[in-house]
Amino acid sequence: MKPRISLIPISLFICTLWVLLPAFPGGLCSNQQKAHDKWAIHDPNRPLPPVVIPGPSLPPVPPPSDAIVLFDGKNLFNWVDSKGEPARWKVEGDYMEVVPKTGNIQTKHGFGSCQLHIEWMAPIPAGGEGQDRGNSGVFLMGLYEVQVLDSFENKTYADGMAGAIYGQYPPLVNACRKPGEWQTYDIVFYAPKFDAEGKLLEPARMTVFHNGILIHHNAELTGPTAHKARPPYKAHAGKLPLMLQDHSHPVKFRNIWLRELE
Ligand code: MG
Repeated sequence: MKPRISLIPISLFICTLWVLLPAFPGGLCSNQQKAHDKWAIHDPNRPLPPVVIPGPSLPPVPPPSDAIVLFDGKNLFNWVDSKGEPARWKVEGDYMEVVPKTGNIQTKHGFGSCQLHIEWMAPIPAGGEGQDRGNSGVFLMGLYEVQVLDSFENKTYADGMAGAIYGQYPPLVNACRKPGEWQTYDIVFYAPKFDAEGKLLEPARMTVFHNGILIHHNAELTGPTAHKARPPYKAHAGKLPLMLQDHSHPVKFRNIWLRELE
């Protein structure tokens, strides 16, 4: 006689797994990774993440021995504008500062997957509201933006606040310091992979720490970031310049270095 297996415990087990699996961010699909499906781009009803007060800002984090130093406070030799001409942002003290209307700047060399460290400061006094306050951006490969914005007591749409993967993922928390204080981004970026025909094999992924606090965990990008659009992936080179955005606000940057990962 065959043993009879009750279906009830099995169904209970499957139901429990179904409920619990999304709670593990390191799982096959993190919560964050799926979140964009539910929300229209720049949806004003998308919940804002909770505020977490980071520790005080620290002196610049020295680069490790294998880092490629992109900006050490001295000059913009590693940077050009979008036409390949010398970058025209201001260099003062140990930082560079956006000179509004001089355009985005980008590294002379291209990079793919990397660990990037960059420090930034929103202008004081804080002026403007929403997207019009301390706006800039860190564009991995010139295509995938981690938003720079003064999000200290400044509301905007969740997928456009400081630390957002612009238009796709709000940060897990709002870890913004006050304007006039140095902030850090530590970004682990894996470049997308394409086959010889240009078909996407692997999407881009990002893990990001803002002021040392985790704000993205292995988030899978839907494609390049854009304003009011989520364009699909288009095959591109394995290495492309890192770009910083001129959004007409005098945002400062310092101590920029990266480690290539592939
Ligand atoms: Mg921006």
